Amino acid sequence: MSQGTVLVIGGGVAGALTSLFLKQNGFLPELYERVAAFNDVGVVKQIKGSLALAPNGLKILSQIPGLDKKFLDNGAPLNYLSHRTSHGTILAETPIDIYSLRFGYPLLGIKRTVVLRLLHEELNRQLIPVHFGKSLCALTQSNEHVTVEFQDGTKVIGDYLIGCDGLRSTVRQLLFGSDQPTYTGLTQTIGITDRIGQLDRSEMLNVYGDGGTHFITYPFNSKEACFACTFRESIADTESWRTLSTEQALKFIHECGF
Ligand SMILES: Cc1cc2nc3c(=O)[nH]c(=O)nc-3n(C[C@H](O)[C@H](O)[C@H](O)COP(=O)(O)OP(=O)(O)OC[C@H]3O[C@@H](n4cnc5c(N)ncnc54)[C@H](O)[C@@H]3O)c2cc1C
Repeated sequence: MSQGTVLVIGGGVAGALTSLFLKQNGFLPELYERVAAFNDVGVVKQIKGSLALAPNGLKILSQIPGLDKKFLDNGAPLNYLSHRTSHGTILAETPIDIYSLRFGYPLLGIKRTVVLRLLHEELNRQLIPVHFGKSLCALTQSNEHVTVEFQDGTKVIGDYLIGCDGLRSTVRQLLFGSDQPTYTGLTQTIGITDRIGQLDRSEMLNVYGDGGTHFITYPFNSKEACFACTFRESIADTESWRTLSTEQALKFIHECGF
């Protein structure tokens, strides 16, 4: 017997995985996502790069049969963790291939779009309803039910509601009041390159520059690596996402001292 219908708001990593685990535990999850199509789900649209999935993350994924293998097949295990200064001094170099022996899984470089695709394929495979173009704007609750309203005027009733709608969660704001994150002025330039060069030993390389800048790069498959350069911008500048050309990105990275 079903434990009840759960309305899950937001189809990023959190919403997709929450829905899968709810179903595994006897609930009936229904996922509602504000973007019109899968390609724009999560922070993926803005962040073109990849992420490094820790061994404990893969361990959690393994509780959904076959999902850990799909992630491993679509990513690159990282074998070295290196830290250097931008002047070339090696601060530390640690072989981390031991993670697989010790924890059962490696640190895995994997493309963000692939993470979301694999999770949404699993939602489809398990016939969990995913509704796109549904932007939650209001909610009411009684002792028995919760009713949510979307910007297109439609309403849905469920037994439970879980907000997985990201950093500026509407669910959280409706329940607990206005709660905007504070921009601290840290900016990151992210990209993908097929010039993996010295990373062919599957290394996550961290480089620390003068003035607190940080550069990180690691492969996420046999041909491509991601890179990200973090530096400070004036807090007065507006927080935003913007796309840089290759030339602009390289100029930025050089200006950061790398
Ligand atoms: C630059 C950067 C680098 C990072 N690197 C890593 C890394 O290497 N490893 C790692 O593990 N993590 C990393 N993270 C963190 C990771 O990306 C986030 O923790 C993760 O994406 C959060 O997932 P989420 O599902 O909670 O939120 P999101 O991915 O933001 O998804 C929220 C979803 O909710 C939807 N939504 C929002 N409002 C509504 C609404 N009102 N109604 C319906 N739907 C709504 C949105 O459209 C979106 O699809 C990084 C983050 C950033 C910014």
